[in-house]
Amino acid sequence: MNLDVRVETLKGVGKAASVKLEKLGIRTVGDLLHHFPRRYDDFSNIIPIRMMKPGMVTFRGEIVNIASRRARTRRLSITEAVISDGTGTVKAVWFNQPFLVKQHPVGSSVMISGKLEFKNNDLALQAPAIESDSGVSKHTGRIVPIYPETEGLTSKQLRNFIMPLLGLIKLEENLPEEVKTKYKLMDRTKAVIELHAPSSEAALKRARHRMAFEELFFIISASLVIKKEIKSEEAPKIDFKVDVAQDFVKSLHFDLTNAQRQAAWQILQDMSSERPMNRLLEGDVGSGKTVVALLAAVMAVRSGYQAAIMVPTDILARQHSKSIQNILGNIGIQSALLLGRQPAAEKNEALKKIRDGSAQVVLGTHALLTEAVEFNNLGLVVIDEQHRFGVEQRQKLKQKASRLPHLLSMTATPIPRSLALTVYGDLDLSIIDELPPNRQPIATKVVKPTDRDVAYGFIDKQITDGRQVFVVCPLIEDSDTLGAKSVTAEVERLRKGPFRHRKISVVHGKLKPAERDDTMQQFVRGEIDILVATSVIEVGIDIPNASVILIEGAERFGLAALHQLRGRVGRGEHHSYCMITSDSNAPGVMERLQALERTQDGFRLAQIDLELRGPGQIYGKRQHGLLELEMADLGDSRLVSQVREAASTFVSDGQNMLQYPQVVERINRLKTVTSLD
Ligand code: ADP
Ligand code: MG
Repeated sequence: MNLDVRVETLKGVGKAASVKLEKLGIRTVGDLLHHFPRRYDDFSNIIPIRMMKPGMVTFRGEIVNIASRRARTRRLSITEAVISDGTGTVKAVWFNQPFLVKQHPVGSSVMISGKLEFKNNDLALQAPAIESDSGVSKHTGRIVPIYPETEGLTSKQLRNFIMPLLGLIKLEENLPEEVKTKYKLMDRTKAVIELHAPSSEAALKRARHRMAFEELFFIISASLVIKKEIKSEEAPKIDFKVDVAQDFVKSLHFDLTNAQRQAAWQILQDMSSERPMNRLLEGDVGSGKTVVALLAAVMAVRSGYQAAIMVPTDILARQHSKSIQNILGNIGIQSALLLGRQPAAEKNEALKKIRDGSAQVVLGTHALLTEAVEFNNLGLVVIDEQHRFGVEQRQKLKQKASRLPHLLSMTATPIPRSLALTVYGDLDLSIIDELPPNRQPIATKVVKPTDRDVAYGFIDKQITDGRQVFVVCPLIEDSDTLGAKSVTAEVERLRKGPFRHRKISVVHGKLKPAERDDTMQQFVRGEIDILVATSVIEVGIDIPNASVILIEGAERFGLAALHQLRGRVGRGEHHSYCMITSDSNAPGVMERLQALERTQDGFRLAQIDLELRGPGQIYGKRQHGLLELEMADLGDSRLVSQVREAASTFVSDGQNMLQYPQVVERINRLKTVTSLD
């Protein structure tokens, strides 16, 4: 069967269903086969009626009696059947399915799966799945797949579309033969069939394993290929000079932590090799990544190179530039600032200095990648608070420098090491897992709706004491569907009510950048008491005078994101507070949020989030530009290590690259999509 055949041409699908399938991204038979179940109901355990107890049951039998009637009060039809299997009889009830009477007349053999329960003193099966017992069952008597659904398209329909195809397909094997043999992986065609129609629990497990393996194999291989390509480039050589490092550290008004030292050491080692560094520096908010990056920059400058530091927004760049200029100025290094929005004179001046090399360290946004920017001798690029610096960006940089510069990415997103190795396999990893001493923990409390007034009283007192406050909401404007708090409505409420005597302003992503900048600057200058914001304030902004952050609708954020938000306070000498609120009474929400009360450790929180919500939720494409994995569980360390082993063996053998062009093609395709979000 040709996988490119369009679904509407399949028997039983038709126009209406194909429109709905399209909503799930399904156009062809191939798409349909790769629409994998979300979960399964195990109806495989067939039992005699005599042995049945209330709960989920599956059995076969014969219809002894079946009839449909109208309920008296409502416009409702009730169908009742009595089924017997020789060991006993049982009753089943359905609402609004009168057609069942014709489909399963008295005397016909059926297979039934569903819930047996007491209702109105009567033990009966409530709306069970029923089908003719013809030998091949789709919906009962087996492990039944439940699919991601869309409106008007049920799992039952999807099963009806997919199951008939399974006997006709032959899929192309996309893993190298040795890999399949060595790791005893199921054949691809068989795996896909088992996923849709599991023959047993064990076979299903092997099928999932096979598909998870495949999924990771290509991702990891792609990142290993990238790594290899980078390592084949020649880099600017930046010698490690002990006196330079010592002078820099002496110029600071604090000692480096051990973790900072270790990370700096790894970075300086990398830069002194002939191959371009490609390293990720992970460290919790406030762990002091900036000075580590600056030390690297200083080392580059002292070897005659320029260093560039890229941050995500103009506000951050401006804010960083002051402290960075301070530190670098102390040791006689010239820096420049280049932004997207900047007075023309200032910008031209910066461009000129970058070109003639008098700007030794350049701080800026993505503007640094634009064509107007010509570096004199770029040796190091630091990317702060970005999650991914892609192939494309690297290519742009290469055009700006005679050699591929060393690359250091920094993130405060606490990605557990195992996950980072998979997701960022092409990067080497340094982790700062320790905060500078004397950091006060941020007192964190999940505030109950009934305690809101108490919380407001506390906040007001802080403002009276001269502090400032962040209020974070999940949305910009009110939405009918989501029912979450919005910045726009919340600011109205606070201005009218509890904080009418305070100065309140708003920032969010839809404001003009200039407007947003102005408000932020006012907040920095202390002219605003309360800043109501979306999570745009999540990244690196530094307001030492802010001592409280109140987060509304907290269930909508991941723990790692909440932890980042919390990091907006406690950046000065003042004791600081994080208040978390949620109106959600969904199960597990409170427990999850309370983890923030217990720990200040971003990595620990990320781990908890990972366990509670899975990597797809946390590191999904939308949120972080990372991976959206369908099959693979990155918590499965055995799987991850097997795949890494397989991928690295495969990639390191040039012969393989020739023998398996289709595998290489897939790897190359992935290589080009792993770019910055
Ligand atoms: P982040 O890792 O979140 O980017 P920063 O680099 O902005 O953190 O550092 C946060 C603050 O901690 C800065 O004010 C910085 O000067 C200070 N800092 C960094 N390292 C140390 C240290 N070893 N001891 C004391 N303070 C430090
Ligand atoms: Mg930072």
